[in-house]
Amino acid sequence: MKLDIHVQRGAFRLDVSDAWPEHGVTALFGPSGAGKTTLLRALAGLETHPGCHITFGEETWQAPDLVVPPHRRGVGFVFQDPALFPHLSVRQNLAYAGKRAAMKRHRIPDLPDITRVMELDALLDRRPDSLSGGERQRVAIARALASAPRLLLLDEPLASLDTERKERILSQLMQIRREWDIPIVLVSHDLADVVRLTDHIVLIDEGCASRCAPFARAMTDFTGPLAHRADAAVPVDVTADAHDAETDMSRVRLGDGHIWVPGGPYGPDYPLRLVVHADRIMLARAPVPPGTDGGIVVPCTVRDVVASGVSTMIIALRSGSAEFLARTTRRTVSALQLEPGLAVFAHILGAVVH
Ligand code: ADP
Ligand code: MG
Repeated sequence: MKLDIHVQRGAFRLDVSDAWPEHGVTALFGPSGAGKTTLLRALAGLETHPGCHITFGEETWQAPDLVVPPHRRGVGFVFQDPALFPHLSVRQNLAYAGKRAAMKRHRIPDLPDITRVMELDALLDRRPDSLSGGERQRVAIARALASAPRLLLLDEPLASLDTERKERILSQLMQIRREWDIPIVLVSHDLADVVRLTDHIVLIDEGCASRCAPFARAMTDFTGPLAHRADAAVPVDVTADAHDAETDMSRVRLGDGHIWVPGGPYGPDYPLRLVVHADRIMLARAPVPPGTDGGIVVPCTVRDVVASGVSTMIIALRSGSAEFLARTTRRTVSALQLEPGLAVFAHILGAVVH
């Protein structure tokens, strides 16, 4: 989709001129007040500002002489506080959205599938006011899906949820990403949520948006802000090639090595996303020192070394086609004499697969 969006509202100004992918998950990441909701609403057609130009696929949604209304754009929108019809049951809320979808030409995920993925079977006869915040949010996502969207816009759908409920919805969103080819724009101010799901990222602050970039590349780019964050973490897409039933751990291929991670068994083609946290890597010059667990060690090459603050150093590592970051100290860099091109061994602590 091509966006040329300009908003002036009092002292606030939003400018975005970019092309975003029409597949996978694009995260719109930035602090409160940055303009994320404004941008999403303009994209959905919920607010129109003069001078904007928006195209999706072959269709023009907004041009100087044209404004396609929201219901004709085929956009599913989920707000932070979901607005469901209070007098209708969950089933009726979904059916209402489904009825509108039946008039559309494009492919529709059917209601039983949506209900299964969003785990709503037990809730279908309940009214929205009897649901918890997390349950309402799941219904809202299901309802947006039932409207057969060509584009799903999620405005901080996880912001008000506790960790457990958030985890559940995150894994459901990953399933949506895997099962249906619906492009998703996910607004978030929490990097931990973004790293789980995102394929592309747009950074936004005070109305200024960065160019949309592949997430792993944006994360490992020293010239951008993400690599320098204390919670920096790089997603690496991997597959498992072994499972140990006794410990319930799976072996995944990571670049030129293998590591064991909790969970499984996973099929050889099952896509897994390994999240490698920069502050949970220990670097060593020797392969696997005696008395350590070789099951978490991956051979790497140092690609780059950069200072981040006074004592912190960020190391970009490459192993095969995988790239990730290690956050370490100036002391370690000098003790190991880390420099670009050096072969090292990364002890990957607490990598999580999703
Ligand atoms: P975000 O979603 O990133 O938190 P918003 O898009 O909601 O940011 O807001 C961007 C800016 O526009 C902020 O400065 C906010 O105060 C202002 N703003 C948002 N909604 C309105 C409104 N209805 N009227 C006037 N100003 C608004
Ligand atoms: Mg907002």
